[in-house]
Amino acid sequence: MVKDLVCGMMVDPEKAPAKTEYKGQTYYFCAPGCKVAFEKDPEKYLEGTGEPHEHHHHMHHEH
Ligand SMILES: [Zn+2]
Repeated sequence: MVKDLVCGMMVDPEKAPAKTEYKGQTYYFCAPGCKVAFEKDPEKYLEGTGEPHEHHHHMHHEH
């Protein structure tokens, strides 16, 4: 599963209704509308991901 960067949904690449390539990477979307939004302003959506800073912490207890 990969993340739809526009709306944050998890998308199955094999069933994704929309996908696009940007800078050699393929991105998948839950809907064509999300793809359109991404293509309008890819950097905006890429900025929020892959960055090391986290805005929220999930409590992950190993036990
Ligand atoms: Zn979406």
